[in-house]
Amino acid sequence: MREKDRFGREISYLRVSVTDRCNFRCFYCRPVRDFTPLPHSEILSYEEILEVVRAGVAAGVKKVRLTGGEPLLRRGIAHLVKEIAAMPEIQDLGLTTNGLLLETMAWPLREAGLTRLNVSLDSLDPAVFQRVTGKDAARQVLAGIEAALSLGFAPVKLNTVAVAGVNDADFGRLARLSMDWPVHVRFIEFMPTAGVTDWASARFLSWERVKEIVERDAGALEQVPESGLFPGPALRYRFPGAKGEVGFITAVTRHFCGECNRMRLTADGKLRPCLLSDREVDVRAGLRAGLGEEAVLAAWKRALELKPQGHALDNPERAPLKRGMSRIGG
Ligand code: SAM
Ligand code: SF4
Repeated sequence: MREKDRFGREISYLRVSVTDRCNFRCFYCRPVRDFTPLPHSEILSYEEILEVVRAGVAAGVKKVRLTGGEPLLRRGIAHLVKEIAAMPEIQDLGLTTNGLLLETMAWPLREAGLTRLNVSLDSLDPAVFQRVTGKDAARQVLAGIEAALSLGFAPVKLNTVAVAGVNDADFGRLARLSMDWPVHVRFIEFMPTAGVTDWASARFLSWERVKEIVERDAGALEQVPESGLFPGPALRYRFPGAKGEVGFITAVTRHFCGECNRMRLTADGKLRPCLLSDREVDVRAGLRAGLGEEAVLAAWKRALELKPQGHALDNPERAPLKRGMSRIGG
């Protein structure tokens, strides 16, 4: 059964947040100092997550990404990877991590059947890295990336949130990592998720501006033609002769809402059809009442009805989002 939403979009990609906990405090994601984690009882168990993934598969899901919070903090994550990788309908299984625990976790994840890995990396400069994430851990994250590459994860995608006056001096160096490593360095436009107070003032950089800075500091880029089973939202470029690529994720300036194929599952069991809208449908109560796949599919249908046509970031009157990224699953 291939489910479409009200606007004819086929929803084939489920992003699962396995925890709201994190070992970093990135200012754009988790700015609140006294962040109170969800009680364990409110977080879906692996069995409950698998029930939702199975229902998603019945509704047409073919691609799953595990995220958080920091997914490598959740004990037994490789077990969840293994269970999802074993589902024959799932053609693509990825995980997004901040990389802090990757050096030791890369092998168990690989062995469990993970094929795609995204690692967040906002700067190569240890002081800037610490300013962004709250941790002096740039070297540890780089060691994790190298471990993943040596185990054959290819490409590893590196995500950099572009923030003016914070990490823009490092865009060229980050992009040049794609010369010698089979990595896709992707610059993400800074989004106004909950708790982000200075967005759109001095901090926001459009993808065109980021590309100008990269080309000024690191050389001209050429466009890469789109290919692959699941073309992503990034605009793809590369330096001539490079092993990897440079991409731009234009979440704010160029809506890719028209082609959005995503559903999100939050750590506390809500289906969230749009990252940038607080509309959600609970699945946890139905699961815990033993109502099974039918209840999840009914919730899935309701969530599809709630999926907006596009985000409302251009509307200055829009209400601020209630959940921060670490609570949604970016
Ligand atoms: N902890 C993992 C990590 O950092 O990769 C996974 C979860 S994190 C919420 C997923 C992605 O969301 C990261 O690449 C992060 O940089 C991005 N992100 C978080 N807040 C953002 C914001 N306000 N604007 C743009 N991207 C953001
Ligand atoms: Fe944690 Fe990832 Fe959010 Fe940073 S972006 S605070 S690493 S969840």
